[in-house]
Amino acid sequence: MKWYKKNPGFFIEEMKVIRENYPNLHYRIKEEIVFLSGELEFNATYNNINIQDKYSIKIVFPDDYPNTFPSVIETGNRIPKNYHKLIGDRLCLGTPMEVSCFFNKAKSIKPLIDILVIGYLYRYSYLEKYKEEPFAERSHGVKGKLEFYSEVLGTSDVPVIIKYLKIIFRPKFGGHLLCPCGSGKQIRNCHQKNISELSNISKAIISDDLEQLLKLQRSFKL
Ligand SMILES: [Zn+2]
Ligand SMILES: [Zn+2]
Repeated sequence: MKWYKKNPGFFIEEMKVIRENYPNLHYRIKEEIVFLSGELEFNATYNNINIQDKYSIKIVFPDDYPNTFPSVIETGNRIPKNYHKLIGDRLCLGTPMEVSCFFNKAKSIKPLIDILVIGYLYRYSYLEKYKEEPFAERSHGVKGKLEFYSEVLGTSDVPVIIKYLKIIFRPKFGGHLLCPCGSGKQIRNCHQKNISELSNISKAIISDDLEQLLKLQRSFKL
């Protein structure tokens, strides 16, 4: 069953938030898919540099929303295809783990727009205006995944990251297991906090990342 029929109260609540905060985005339901389209205006400041701008966008809600995050498309053809866009012209709002991790905590549209979408648009407007990126950017593909896990887990050792991911992938959290970092302590007395940060990521993404890292490990004999 489609999300907006399964949980009409939540649907009404989400659309109310949209109306109140982004009056130029309008929702429609077409072939049972909910989407928003229109203009997103923002006024954002980063490192004391303020940017006011607006973009034409479309936000498409997946059928199992909010278990999966929506996709966002810039419909004004202002941002070139080779600038952080994914298949189907979806904006690359971060690596899939980052977006999923963020969204699984938020579980609603406003933080997604305010932080990820406006963050992305701010970055592009800044680049247009000042001819450089306002902040460092994570790589795409497996390199970006490694950067992300290295930051959260505090290690860039691929076999160790793989051990962590296997633990996160378990159906039940194994706090009594030995911590993959090699300290000899149980997880609950060691890197539990880092691991629980990653437990917000959907199991499907973890399994996908695990597969890619295992492939990397095999091809480089790590
Ligand atoms: Zn990107
Ligand atoms: Zn540890």
